[in-house]
This record gives sequence, C-alpha cells and structure tokens, in this order.
Amino acid sequence: MAKIYPIIKSKNPLLRKVSSEIEPAKFGSNLLKKLFLDMTATMYKKDGIGLAAPQISKNIRMVVINTAEGPICMINPVITKRSTTQELGEEGCLSVPGVFGQVNRYKSVDCQFIDENGQKNLIKANKMMARVIQHEIDHLDGILFIDKLEPGSKSSDRKTERPAVKK
Ligand SMILES: [Zn+2]
Repeated sequence: MAKIYPIIKSKNPLLRKVSSEIEPAKFGSNLLKKLFLDMTATMYKKDGIGLAAPQISKNIRMVVINTAEGPICMINPVITKRSTTQELGEEGCLSVPGVFGQVNRYKSVDCQFIDENGQKNLIKANKMMARVIQHEIDHLDGILFIDKLEPGSKSSDRKTERPAVKK
C-alpha cells in the first residue's frame, strides 16, 4: 500500500529551505522507488499535476510529475537550457490552496535528471510540461509561485471560502 503524505502549507518554513541533492549512492534504491510510489499516490489523491518532496516535509531534490504517459520521477533535476521567450499562464499549488494567478515562465526548457531506476534522463519540455517543471524545481529552491505572481492576477477559488457569518 502506498503511503499518502500530508501536504504542508505555505506558512511552513520547510517550504522556504533550499533542498539537498540526493547522493548518487542512493540512485535506484528501493527507498527512493518507494518514495516515488508514495509521492505519486499523494499527488493523485490531491489531484495535483506535480509534487515536490519539500511539500511532504522532505528537503531533498526530488519531484514527481503527472504526464499523459504516466508519472515521472525526477531526482536532482537541473534545467540545462531555457527558451529566450517567456509566457504567462495560470498556476496553483497544493501548498497554497484556493489561490491561483498568472506566472511568467520560460516557454520551453531542457531538464536533466535521474529517474527512479537511477538512469540519467533529459526531457525537452514545452507548454504545460515546461511550466510544471519550473514550478516544481522552484519548490526545491524554497520558492513558491505566489512569489512570482503577475501583479493584479491573484484570484481565490470562491467555492472553498466559507460564507460570511451574519451578526
Ligand atoms: Zn507547488
């Protein structure tokens, strides 16, 4: 059975730390494979597109991303190439529930990482995938999307707000 982890919220200082690289000796280990499964299960349970280890209180450089071809595991991900142009797009975050807004991101990025089997990989990502990769790697550096919101674009999901109490 996969473990569903609690997701910490934006005021938690663990989300503001720079996470540590995972040592090569641990690449491909059962420990990381299990963590990949647990993080994937947690992401699915919360309807997320991606999840970074700091969001489950682990300050290590690992993220999972939900793609059409299934979940992918990125250990020590590094963006090695960025497009010259950026574009605005809407983002939200499981650690900042009910808040959405426009964030500028590179249109396309190349990302190098180690997968759950310890293999080195390179993804050439654009559009949504490029956006998610940039959002998740920001988590590993203690950065949240609300730090980068386009002024005036912040909106709340009204459905999650309680109705005002009448006096
Ligand atoms: Zn996030």
